Amino acid sequence: MSSAATTPGRRPLTLLIAAPRGFCAGVDRAITIVERAIAKYGVPVYVRHEIVHNKYVVEGLKAKGAIFVEELDEVPDDRPVVFSAHGVPKVVPQRAAERSLTFLDATCPLVSKVHRQAERQIEAGRHIAFIGHKGHPEVIGTFGQVPPGTMTLIESVEDAEAFIPPSDGNGLSFLTQTTLSVDDTADIAAVLQRRFPDIVAPKGEDICYATSNRQAAVKAIAGRAQAMLVIGAPNSSNSLRLVEVAERDGARAMLVQRAADISFEWLEGVDVLGLTAGASAPEILVREVVDALAARFDVVEEEIMTAVETVAFKLPRDLDAA
Ligand code: SF4
Repeated sequence: MSSAATTPGRRPLTLLIAAPRGFCAGVDRAITIVERAIAKYGVPVYVRHEIVHNKYVVEGLKAKGAIFVEELDEVPDDRPVVFSAHGVPKVVPQRAAERSLTFLDATCPLVSKVHRQAERQIEAGRHIAFIGHKGHPEVIGTFGQVPPGTMTLIESVEDAEAFIPPSDGNGLSFLTQTTLSVDDTADIAAVLQRRFPDIVAPKGEDICYATSNRQAAVKAIAGRAQAMLVIGAPNSSNSLRLVEVAERDGARAMLVQRAADISFEWLEGVDVLGLTAGASAPEILVREVVDALAARFDVVEEEIMTAVETVAFKLPRDLDAA
């Protein structure tokens, strides 16, 4: 715990900072892949989709020579391309290979694990109920691992209740996106398991360690805090889930991309504030928010640690020494 010196006339604010928070091993690896690719191949290096959902990170990589595009067609033949941490449909690396592009896959290994599980379920002749959010790039990537019509998206308990499996399948299984609400997903899975007692569940937890740990840390704080700031992007699934978890546990929650987004009127009457950051938000933005708060309040920081993370993922072999 650390405390700022008390300044007369300024209101005290206890700041409960979640740990773990911010960057996960998959995000760290994806950013390093882009940086190493620039070191190895020179500029520009193309990146298909935002490498991770964070504007600060994307702008930082642009300044180093990365060019972000949405589709492979926008990549010239003579430049390397990196695929984002969210994963891509199978057809993307296939097309890159057909064009003899140099491509580097920054898909998080935990997303790749779900891709392999999906393939195995289809090989076993099962239809997959996939719990996730429509339109998220991870969901698009995972659907792109299997033939059309072999996977059904389930977004809610209502979808799980209404789901009618195809009659031609030998069986059913379910898988999930990695960045969902642990509690919501358990509710949806429970409905599927009640309606289809033989449904095959994933071997291990599909929701990743980083998503689960960040939600658990928010739960440990939300009961004590009147409000919670979550640093993250509006298109970051795991950050949005942190907002929901905080609200469900009794704290008002606000998603901010960085300090400039904080509404200080919103903090009126708040004596205890929680703070966390989604898996794609760097620690520098956490410090920026703490400094902005310390400029207006007598802040007393307290870190609430609920887990220690030691996960690290290997880089692709050809970038290891770059
Ligand atoms: Fe991988 Fe989880 Fe991080 Fe996504 S949030 S990149 S699945 S570790």
